[in-house]
Amino acid sequence: MLRNEFQIIDQIYDSQVENKFIIKKLTVNERIILLQKLEESILAHRQEITQGLHLDFRKSIIEAESTEIFPIISEIRLFRKNLKKWAKTKSVSNNIVFFGSNAKIQYEAKGNCLIISPWNYPFQLALVHLVACIAAGNTAIVKPSEFSPNTNKVVKKIINSVFSSNHVEVVKGEIDVTTHLLNKKFDHIHFTGSPKVGKIIMAAGAKHLSSVTLELGGKSPLIIDDTMPLETIVSKAIWGKLVNNGQTCIAPDYILIQENRLNDFVKSAIKYLEKTFGQDPKESPDLARIINNKNFHRIRDLIQDSIAKGAKCPYGNDYDEKELYIKPTLLTHVDSNSEILHEEIFGPVFPIISYTTINEAINFINEREKPLALYIFSKNKALIQQISDETSSGAVMVNETLIHIMHPNLPFGGVNNSGIGSSTGKFGFEDFSHAKPVLDVNQLVSPTKFINYPYNSRTQKII
Ligand code: NAD
Repeated sequence: MLRNEFQIIDQIYDSQVENKFIIKKLTVNERIILLQKLEESILAHRQEITQGLHLDFRKSIIEAESTEIFPIISEIRLFRKNLKKWAKTKSVSNNIVFFGSNAKIQYEAKGNCLIISPWNYPFQLALVHLVACIAAGNTAIVKPSEFSPNTNKVVKKIINSVFSSNHVEVVKGEIDVTTHLLNKKFDHIHFTGSPKVGKIIMAAGAKHLSSVTLELGGKSPLIIDDTMPLETIVSKAIWGKLVNNGQTCIAPDYILIQENRLNDFVKSAIKYLEKTFGQDPKESPDLARIINNKNFHRIRDLIQDSIAKGAKCPYGNDYDEKELYIKPTLLTHVDSNSEILHEEIFGPVFPIISYTTINEAINFINEREKPLALYIFSKNKALIQQISDETSSGAVMVNETLIHIMHPNLPFGGVNNSGIGSSTGKFGFEDFSHAKPVLDVNQLVSPTKFINYPYNSRTQKII
């Protein structure tokens, strides 16, 4: 990055710091109008968005529309409908000590925010948290991932068509740019990315005591007992894994299956894959590519390492490096020392691990970092409750994969290694706001009438 480019970033930052008190005063109606303009601009650039995503990693139009554009449009519409209600100052009841007082919670904007996003849903994740940020009355610098340059161009074009630079601006660049930004004082930092970089972000936030939201990743398990037909499970499990070619934060990472179903599951999965993608899945327009060489090699090494350590591969293990293509791959009998059972896979590879008792499966999950999502395929309500009670994860989803992210009234987020804080909808609004208590005490019976100097036997009696 050239010196004068850093100067431009400094100017953007300074202008937003200067402007943040004006932005904070925008009325809820004014913010809703901006959200509406954002929606209109996104819809007007629809074709450019899908083209950018295709150029970056050959994302199919259907996935671009359904997983990148649709979630933002729904988020904007949810905010347009509910913002007045969410942003309204709320009165709370008093106890006897504050009898007759006026106690309320006022939502105030945090101030100047930094939103850092990853490459895997480069359009959705650069913009979806901006919706809550703007709705709450903040300014924002959006820093997208350097690995999705074509999508970033449209993101910048859209943002510049709606907001002035001292309100919202996109800053593109690599690690040096993010590091430069992280040295500055932000009132709030919202980060989506890996747990490894999440630690860098949290440490940077600590320097200025900026509040930080971390949307991270991890190994999300998918548990299968013996109460549901395999055909239903297979299509939902494989879809969840292969959307965006496995490069999804909440993709099921590995399967835990009751031992007596392992062979049938593998047979059923192969049948489904062959039927869906034909003899050569590389020709399918539905499968995106791996984002770059580094990730291609990382995923291929994970497969090779587990096979070298004794894993069986009944399907897949086929590559085209030039095209950054990895065939969907199934692995069974994976040795516990294989790296693939410890690192987030983030690619089209499904290790299938068998268990004999549900406690074994629960222990397997609890020996690892807390996942972002936990999928259970079962009709056994007691078992579902037991797994949910005895594990910790960002979310639990029953008999489906991925779609919990679409629910408008549920928070989205991880726990510890998979994330800190919740985003989207009302939870996103609260995340980008400070819930400020404002208390106007009834002077006729104020507590300080009874507890005040001089302390004496009368004060003691009250206590
Ligand atoms: P990443 O952590 O490598 O990068 C994310 C962002 O951080 C990018 O903008 C990047 O430029 C920046 N960055 C990278 N290294 C940095 C450093 N040393 N210092 C400062 N900034 C740095 O993640 P990624 O590879 O882009 O995305 C994949 C990860 O993101 C996976 O772990 C996935 O599970 C996670 N993810 C989480 C969610 C969620 O909502 N929880 C959504 C998508 C992806």
